Amino acid sequence: MSFKYIKALPTPEEIERDYPLSDKLKELKKNRDEEVAKIIKGEDDRVLLIIGPCSADNEDAVCEYISRLVPVQEKIKDKVLIVPRIYTNKPRTTGEGYKGIAIQPDPTKEPDMVEGLIAMRKMHIRAMEESGFTCADEMLYPENWPYVEDLLSYVAIGARSVEDQHHRFTVSGFDVASGMKNPTSGDLSVMLNSVYAAQHPHHFAFGGHEVETSGNPLAHTILRGAVSKHGNSTQNYHYEDLIRLNKMYEEMDLVNKACIVDCNHSNSNKQFKEQIRIAREVMHSRKHSDDIRSLVKGLMIESYIEEGNQKISDHQVFGKSITDACLGWKDSEELMYSIADMS
Ligand code: PEP
Ligand code: MN
Repeated sequence: MSFKYIKALPTPEEIERDYPLSDKLKELKKNRDEEVAKIIKGEDDRVLLIIGPCSADNEDAVCEYISRLVPVQEKIKDKVLIVPRIYTNKPRTTGEGYKGIAIQPDPTKEPDMVEGLIAMRKMHIRAMEESGFTCADEMLYPENWPYVEDLLSYVAIGARSVEDQHHRFTVSGFDVASGMKNPTSGDLSVMLNSVYAAQHPHHFAFGGHEVETSGNPLAHTILRGAVSKHGNSTQNYHYEDLIRLNKMYEEMDLVNKACIVDCNHSNSNKQFKEQIRIAREVMHSRKHSDDIRSLVKGLMIESYIEEGNQKISDHQVFGKSITDACLGWKDSEELMYSIADMS
């Protein structure tokens, strides 16, 4: 047998018992989930801004970053709803590299998944307590959902997972806004089929049980750019791309038409500073076309305390990404005000 069973992981109930959510935070999450849902349903025309580091690699740095968002959110609350990114699981193109705090609580050390599950839950709870935000995470491993279902207000399914049936069916049981990214190939019909699957009920195996889901009407699309057969990045945030997606959306039997434009990844060709221009272009397209305004409900931006990124080492810069390069704080703050102004 080629699997070596190292140890059994604690159950979600065990972790939740040790790291519970207070009644106050339960109420916070309920209210925030409703706010996000209203935007996705088109009942609130504020911009949904999912912003934060590519990977939440360090609890202190992530919580400091998120606490900086609080006064900004207060100033732009009539125009923009911020949902910070706390991404605890990272997909890797070749399988190599840092895989997120849920697997490697210390990026310089070997994986430790028991400590990782604890670190993931602790960081989300601390961020909620200190900032009053509930956050977004990628559901890279659908089986992790029960460990975080009482914490997240937004879930993303990544470009490398969105064609997978288990991911799609799992999202159909989530009760929060869930963004399905376009696949790395860029095929928009794959993304829309994924939303269709997630919006409908399913019957499948999950966490050792036979389960049924009710379908998630808050499942929607995220455009993140694509990679061509020659390995070049191609963008899908331009005016014409958004018009095309709007048309395709309307030809399908989907509820709550909604798209978030991811300004980094293949849209910026990982030139992180381009996120400023891209976000502004999308905001401009929203102003120019009512169809685009009704489709594009928000933006995703990769941002941290320090700009750029760094290699993992024993002397890391506090608040600088160890995965995709991010905007630094000053640029991010300016951009958030500019998005509010352009909304
Ligand atoms: C991310 O959001 O950091 C990410 C890995 O996205 P994608 O799935 O679009 O590559
Ligand atoms: Mn990233």
